Amino acid sequence: MQGLIPQQVGEALQAKLSAQGVSWQLQTSVEIVDQAASGYRLTLTSGEIVEADLVISAVGLKPRTELAQTAGVDCGRGIKVNGGLRTNVADIYALGDCAELQGKVLPYIAPINFGVRALADCLLGRPTMAQYPHMPVVVKTPALLLTIQSPEVGLEGEWQTEATDDGLRSLFRDSAGMLKGFVLAGSCTAERQQWLDQLI
Ligand SMILES: Cc1cc2nc3c(=O)[nH]c(=O)nc-3n(C[C@H](O)[C@H](O)[C@H](O)COP(=O)(O)OP(=O)(O)OC[C@H]3O[C@@H](n4cnc5c(N)ncnc54)[C@H](O)[C@@H]3O)c2cc1C
Repeated sequence: MQGLIPQQVGEALQAKLSAQGVSWQLQTSVEIVDQAASGYRLTLTSGEIVEADLVISAVGLKPRTELAQTAGVDCGRGIKVNGGLRTNVADIYALGDCAELQGKVLPYIAPINFGVRALADCLLGRPTMAQYPHMPVVVKTPALLLTIQSPEVGLEGEWQTEATDDGLRSLFRDSAGMLKGFVLAGSCTAERQQWLDQLI
């Protein structure tokens, strides 16, 4: 989750999962998965062998942009759209997990719900820009609940993290000291509205 949360929060999540028995193989990747007599035998790029009963691959989402690119549509990580879901090509729109808005792919339901109304207006000949409120992402990992309101991509600033008895509060402030994002962990997730109200 390096693109979403500061390192200290990532380490706290890692520690909570480790306490539940998770072990980590970092700075390496799975090269080969072989079927073993019972289960699987994984060969890592580091050369290490891991025996497993079950393999789950959860490597994230990547929009398939080839079709859009072939049609001359500008793409970055996703299909680039403006707030009206319009691409750079007339009459081509994108919505949902494949769309990239202001440098971000937002692969969850809330942006679709806000964007779809603007898209409907555009298709009915009433060009409209969607109004996106702050849409914090809730990560429902029972080991450590997280509420994430990321700052704009590329924004200059600094994360400051404070630990409480059973939570973490990370605030991202820009160079002028204004709050531009936050990550709340554990019991601090209850502070969500308080920090949302302070976002400029
Ligand atoms: C396990 C999981 C849990 C999630 N939990 C949450 C959650 O708790 N909260 C939340 O907000 N979001 C959640 N999401 C994300 C949410 O499901 C997606 O943001 C949402 O479904 C995106 O909608 P979409 O229409 O952009 O894409 P999709 O729902 O992926 O729909 C795209 C459709 O296009 C079809 N398709 C693809 N290629 C072609 C083609 N060439 N021709 C025709 N059809 C094609 C696909 O089969 C698919 O039906 C979760 C996602 C996953 C995978």
